[in-house]
Amino acid sequence: MIIIPLGPPGSGKGTQSKKLMAECGWPQLSTGDIFRVAISNKTTLGLKAKEFMDKGELVPDDVVIGVIKDRITQSDCDEGSILDGFPRTLIQAKALDKMLSELNRSIDKVVLFEINQDELVSRLSGRRVCKDCGAMFHLVAAPPKKSGTCDHCGGNLIQRKDDQADVILNRLKVYENQTAPVAAYYGEKSKLQKVDASQSPDDVYKTFKELIGFHK
Ligand code: AMP
Repeated sequence: MIIIPLGPPGSGKGTQSKKLMAECGWPQLSTGDIFRVAISNKTTLGLKAKEFMDKGELVPDDVVIGVIKDRITQSDCDEGSILDGFPRTLIQAKALDKMLSELNRSIDKVVLFEINQDELVSRLSGRRVCKDCGAMFHLVAAPPKKSGTCDHCGGNLIQRKDDQADVILNRLKVYENQTAPVAAYYGEKSKLQKVDASQSPDDVYKTFKELIGFHK
């Protein structure tokens, strides 16, 4: 089973993918998380990705495609995987089709997380992340018990550089210009389904599971 949650930054696809991974066991392949780990380990990949991520730009296609190719061929992806944050351009979408056909596999479902721009800006600008365990909080919607401190591990909460106001607007523009056409591409192939991502996280998750046909 290969599932692609698509949607703008802040639409909740990462959170929903993690929930699905916990329930069904297919790994969530988040290109954003892969880059963030590489940045904190100061690897060559991390240094390259950081240049683009800090400005809210996309990391070049050849770099991202290489990362996914390495990851999706690992044995824990044999039963299925959730591609969170990939593909983000038409070039990546076409490269993924080619990669999967060489592996005799194909995409099962693409789910678009739809939400309006004002809600996205408020979600992203209030988002805080634990520096140590990666847990997510929101200053208004899901505040930590103690300001600036992670409820789970006591680590410091930080704002991602790309969640700062000027970078957010650029990320949303990049989404409209480069990623929205990917949704249209899957729509033409009759693979696309949509969920209203402004609902509560539990309601979004319920619909997400129904759309991909996962029952437990
Ligand atoms: P995310 O955590 O998915 O919002 O990704 C954070 C950042 O990582 C993005 O704003 C891009 O700079 C970079 N990134 C993640 N996935 C991709 C991708 N598929 N193509 C290009 N850049 C990506």
